This record gives sequence, C-alpha cells and structure tokens, in this order.
Amino acid sequence: MSLAPLFDPHRCKRCGLCAHLCPAGALELPSRSAPRLARAQACRGCRTCELICPDFAVSMTEAPAGASVTPLRWDAPASSVLSSVGGET
Ligand code: SF4
Ligand code: SF4
Repeated sequence: MSLAPLFDPHRCKRCGLCAHLCPAGALELPSRSAPRLARAQACRGCRTCELICPDFAVSMTEAPAGASVTPLRWDAPASSVLSSVGGET
C-alpha cells in the first residue's frame, strides 16, 4: 500500500498549485476538471499537494501499489471521489 492523493472537485478551484509544485511531476490539470494523478507510479506520497492546496481539496489515501486513478468529472458527485482510487469500489 502507498499514499496517493484524492481531489475533491467541489472544493478545488483549479489554481494549479499542486500540479506545479509536485516534485515528481505526477499531476496533470485537465482543462475542465480537478487535477488527476496522471503518473501514479511517480508519486512519492510526499503530501506536498495536500499541504499546499489553499482550498483543502486534497486528501491522502492508502492506495494499492499501481492502482489506477480514474479522472473525475468536474461535476462528479462526492461519492465518486471516494471510489476514484482503484482497489476498493
Ligand atoms: S492546489 Fe487545490 S485548489 Fe489548486 S488545483 Fe490543486 S487541488 Fe485544486
Ligand atoms: S503526494 Fe507528492 S509526489 Fe504525490 S502527487 Fe502529491 S505532491 Fe506529487
């Protein structure tokens, strides 16, 4: 198990700070949605994205190694945030 970020699309204002400051370059900011963990294998679980977010939109969760993270729709219901990390749905 390793730590991976989850993004709350209802809190995220798409400022891009997390994607810019991620030391692993693991995040992408799609044009119309919250950031996504585009390169999950590169994520170091350092929590920079969680700590830097001014809107408290990032939370770290335990994710199985190599878990796929499904990009979230901007208007996705909150329940889909919790199921966006592979392994437990
Ligand atoms: S830092 Fe927070 S508000 Fe800004 S894009 Fe990342 S998750 Fe969204
Ligand atoms: S936990 Fe660290 S390495 Fe992983 S996405 Fe966030 S800032 Fe990047």
